[in-house]
Amino acid sequence: MHYFEYKDNELCCEEVPVRKIAESVGTPFYLYSYRTLARHFSVFDKAFGEFPHIVCFSVKANSNLAVLSLFASMGGGADIVSCGELFRALKAGMDPKKIVFSGVGKTEEEIQWALKEGILIFNIESEEELRKIDSVAGRMKTKAAVALRVNPDVDPKTHPYIATGLKKSKFGIAFEKAYQQYQEARSLQHIEILGVDCHIGSQLTEVSPFVDALKKLKELVLRLRKEGIDIRYLDLGGGLGITYDEEKPPDPAEYAQALIEEMKDLHCTLILEPGRVIVGNAGVLVTRVLYNKDGDGRHFVIVDAGMNDLIRPSLYGAFQEIVPVRCKEKEKKVVTDVVGPICESGDFLAKDRALPELKAGELLAVMSAGAYGFAMSSNYNSRRRVAEVLVRDDRFEVVRARETYEDLIRGESIPEWIKT
Ligand SMILES: *Cc1c(COP(=O)(O)O)cnc(C)c1O
Repeated sequence: MHYFEYKDNELCCEEVPVRKIAESVGTPFYLYSYRTLARHFSVFDKAFGEFPHIVCFSVKANSNLAVLSLFASMGGGADIVSCGELFRALKAGMDPKKIVFSGVGKTEEEIQWALKEGILIFNIESEEELRKIDSVAGRMKTKAAVALRVNPDVDPKTHPYIATGLKKSKFGIAFEKAYQQYQEARSLQHIEILGVDCHIGSQLTEVSPFVDALKKLKELVLRLRKEGIDIRYLDLGGGLGITYDEEKPPDPAEYAQALIEEMKDLHCTLILEPGRVIVGNAGVLVTRVLYNKDGDGRHFVIVDAGMNDLIRPSLYGAFQEIVPVRCKEKEKKVVTDVVGPICESGDFLAKDRALPELKAGELLAVMSAGAYGFAMSSNYNSRRRVAEVLVRDDRFEVVRARETYEDLIRGESIPEWIKT
């Protein structure tokens, strides 16, 4: 469900023709729909109804300040994995008491800063990290609230790069060791045990792996309670998938019902860390056709956006739907590779895709690019990172300016001695 639709044969974001924005800001650019973002957040949040829960949006999926501040205004919190993300979440007005800090490599400086801001909870990924947090909190004469991220070893049936809860994964603490680790955490003076946590993967299209993981977490919570370790928060991470192509993920209501059913007598507040499901279909990448080219049996359309702007197809072989901004539904289709200007063979947005004939200058929209799109973009090939634009009804605003050439070299210098 999203608000990118053709009106009079022109792709519009809410009430604004995409072409109009392209004429004003140039291409490529990311385009987000306020109405879609707000709707997705609200549908997800409301799916849990009165059940005690906090929706901590996973900042790594889309970290634009405007997007974060919208969720903050709707009562959302943040799941962060660095202090860069903490900085953004706070700037966007998020309540520190709704911020959870995940990630396997938190530095001392990051731990200190997060403690100073009074975040809700640290999701701990290893024994050494636990000890580090205890010692930093000790120095600061405070206590750190923690959950241990356990690895429930369930198969999320997703791409291996985004499966994070298997035994072989670098994430979390092995389920078998978790109990003992909690005992150890209890002996640390500056640690307050508040929860259990897991995150099994991303782009999941079934409910059952979540329920399996939750069952294991529940078993652990009950066992810990018997030992007098009171667990008040259960964090199930993120990972609910979206439709890129023909996937049929469960809707948030179905997902929520299944979780609530398992949780109802547990007396824990549920923490959720959705990313993709909130922002994925709320954004598109708009790009312009530069050239057509026929290789040996292959037809290429070269566009002005590349893998540095949207890396998902190159990195995961991910499918992103591509549509012309001017509707050409009835026209004859040609099997086409849509490729970018980057000097890498892996630089493509689509392969073997049936698309109408596209002339230089025409605009294309790469759909479902709101999650892990701009957030994963880079300056590779010294390309400036693109603009981000937010539409609400019939207005639009640039919420991140396209980088300038000066931005590209900011912080660089040439030592005097290089020339002698
Ligand atoms: C990436 C990540 C998320 C969000 O995942 P989505 O698939 O975008 O919902 C949540 N929690 C943690 C710990 C993550 O690493």
